[in-house]
Amino acid sequence: MAQIIDGKALATRIKEKMSTQMPNLEAKYGRRPSLYIILVGNDEGSQRYVKHKLAAAASVGMDSRLIALEPTITEKELLDLIHVLNEDPLVDGILVQLPIPKHLNEYHIIQAIDKGKDVDGFHPLNVGELWQGMHGIVPCTPKGIVQLIMSTGVTIDGKTAVVVGRSNIVGKPVAKILLDENATVIMTHTHTKDLKAMTLLADILVVAVGKEKLITADMIKPGAVVIDVGITRNAEGKLVGDVDFDAACEVAGYITPVPGGVGPLTIAMLLKNTMECFLNHAEASTNVSKLWSKIIESRIGTDK
Ligand code: NAD
Repeated sequence: MAQIIDGKALATRIKEKMSTQMPNLEAKYGRRPSLYIILVGNDEGSQRYVKHKLAAAASVGMDSRLIALEPTITEKELLDLIHVLNEDPLVDGILVQLPIPKHLNEYHIIQAIDKGKDVDGFHPLNVGELWQGMHGIVPCTPKGIVQLIMSTGVTIDGKTAVVVGRSNIVGKPVAKILLDENATVIMTHTHTKDLKAMTLLADILVVAVGKEKLITADMIKPGAVVIDVGITRNAEGKLVGDVDFDAACEVAGYITPVPGGVGPLTIAMLLKNTMECFLNHAEASTNVSKLWSKIIESRIGTDK
């Protein structure tokens, strides 16, 4: 019987640790990390996600702001707003909740966010850094998936990892992170000829598709770590993943539930990314202050 990987509990531990750090950070840098979330339009799913993100940020003591915009906003108006936030030294993280209305070009919007404030890790320069092995700001869901795998105590190094789904936000980045952790990685997708033959090779199986019961128990290698990223609502209105959970529990070694698996880690990693951006900004401004002090001291020294 598989051990359930409790994403909710792991996320809670990560957030608790972060909130204990908050008073020290405020004492050291004179402010707390700040996250600005831009929501365009009235999509119900997006509103729900944003609410969870803001609540999580508040729960650890971060400053979080929602900027809710009309769906009719023009691309120029949105870009102007992003530029203002980019220039504001008190803004650490900027997140534009996706999807955005069709008349706005998603690539233009993401590209406009300052690379050092791009807490989603979707900016082309952050993506490029990930693929060059530098891991600047790593996208939240893949970063959380790797935390979930590591929480089992199973080593990734040398294992065969199979990723189902090749999206830019989950499949591709998680494959690259697992590769950097020295797994042998197989990526599968809609054109994969024999998906079962591939998934049966997996010591670690990450499934990010969005199709209920795509992965059945007979597709899982006994003892495998199974991470189910998919979230869809089935005919009965219940939130489900891509893996046939009950049957898979009989075969897998470890498995994430849906809900309560990957989702909570995605939000915890968003806070972690915001914290990392904050530390970079705060350290950089401390270094600039120190440099100015040195310059002023040396000038005063010369004038004497
Ligand atoms: P996407 O639609 O962009 O990509 C889906 C991928 O699945 C594609 O690459 C496609 O090639 C592949 N695919 C489709 N059918 C397949 C099949 N039969 N066999 C093999 N591959 C197949 O989706 P996404 O944005 O990567 O999201 C995937 C799922 O994960 C969705 O259900 C989404 O809601 C969920 N998700 C969850 C979180 C979270 O925090 N829990 C975050 C992001 C996405």
